[in-house]
Amino acid sequence: MATCTFNQAKDLIRRLVSEKGFPDDESALTQKLLWAFVELGEAADAYKKGDSWGDVCEELIDAIFYILDFIGLVEKTQGLRIDVDQIFLDKWRRNMERPVRYGQRRAI
Ligand SMILES: [Mg+2]
Repeated sequence: MATCTFNQAKDLIRRLVSEKGFPDDESALTQKLLWAFVELGEAADAYKKGDSWGDVCEELIDAIFYILDFIGLVEKTQGLRIDVDQIFLDKWRRNMERPVRYGQRRAI
């Protein structure tokens, strides 16, 4: 089974953006987030149409690509190092410490 951390995936996306000539400067930050939403919409549409789970998941991965693209571009343009794996684990631990169904008081 292949393994890949968030940080490794972020670096792979940096390489993809560079080799394929996608927008890669600070002015592209907003569009990276916009495309992540678009990919979520594509996932919802694929689900609605009854497409395969593989197709739905691929659209979700597209969204993750754009999210990691955004973070990698923030690193590049702001001179930061963002440890996505650490942020994920810290957030997971904080959420695990919260009450049952935190943030969901109404049934939907
Ligand atoms: Mg897509």
